[in-house]
Amino acid sequence: MAAKESQPGPLEHHERGAGRYAPSPSGDLHFGNLRTAVLAWLYARHTGRRFYLRVEDIDTQRSSAQSAQRQIEDLAALGLTFDAAPTYQSDNTSAYEAALRALTERGRVFECYCSRKDIQEAARAPHAIPGRYPGTCRDLPEGEREWRRRELLAQGRVPALRLRAEVEKWQVNDGFLGAFTGEVDDFILRRGGQQPDWAYNLAVVVDDVAAGIDQVVRGDDLASSAPRQAYLAHLLGLPQPGYVHVPLVLGPTGKRLAKRDGAVTLREMLADAPVAQVVTRLAESVGVEGCDSLAGLAEKFEPGLVPREAWVWGS
Ligand code: GLU
Repeated sequence: MAAKESQPGPLEHHERGAGRYAPSPSGDLHFGNLRTAVLAWLYARHTGRRFYLRVEDIDTQRSSAQSAQRQIEDLAALGLTFDAAPTYQSDNTSAYEAALRALTERGRVFECYCSRKDIQEAARAPHAIPGRYPGTCRDLPEGEREWRRRELLAQGRVPALRLRAEVEKWQVNDGFLGAFTGEVDDFILRRGGQQPDWAYNLAVVVDDVAAGIDQVVRGDDLASSAPRQAYLAHLLGLPQPGYVHVPLVLGPTGKRLAKRDGAVTLREMLADAPVAQVVTRLAESVGVEGCDSLAGLAEKFEPGLVPREAWVWGS
């Protein structure tokens, strides 16, 4: 991939902090993604932070290098500027290994042999808390682990690795939601199966710290992940970033904006309108009227102008 070859060395730590946009390369960026990217950029610029792009390509089944390249081109077409070349999660797996080792040494990791179906069934038990890992494999005796592991290996699979959490809730500080307390369970650190993938919650914590990111601005669909991530940072002795979870863009049916809602990707929008018009729509969606360049928007932007409610596409 061309952008990957031009990548410089590791990002330096710096005193003034940084923000980031971290898309998953699994399709073209649409108006909702672009609005989150622009907001993350505006918050960083507004607070004098650096701004980075991280390609979240650890989900090997959904990510593609072509999609990453198209997303990078789209962000450039919009006029977003970054303070370093993009980084790729797939280049950082040794740091995930190191974090996993540190947690393992502290007795914080256990193998989980459950299939998705096992978890769904256990979660239907009368006392189960919806959405929480029910703890099935947390305290299995070693003898049982041994045969469950062998059983999986015979199918060419490896167990998942989960965090042994010792809290049930964790509080984070969110610029939009205020003090926000959310669930923490024994969440996955590395997915099992034929091709074990690093889990997003582990990767994101390690990557943000490695890049000196202290301000995480992203869609509020991820707000419920923040307590898990902040708790993991705490366990690893790493600083916890400040969060700003911004409302998503919704389609006309009230569901999160998606392809089904028409010409929503930047490429589709640019087929009908110049980029300045797209910027004007993005600016309106963050509370600034009549602005057709990102530089102009950065001058007028105030976090207090951003609508508190989800933005509805076409409004
Ligand atoms: N890669 C995630 C996404 O595209 C965002 C992760 C994050 O911002 O922490 O939804």
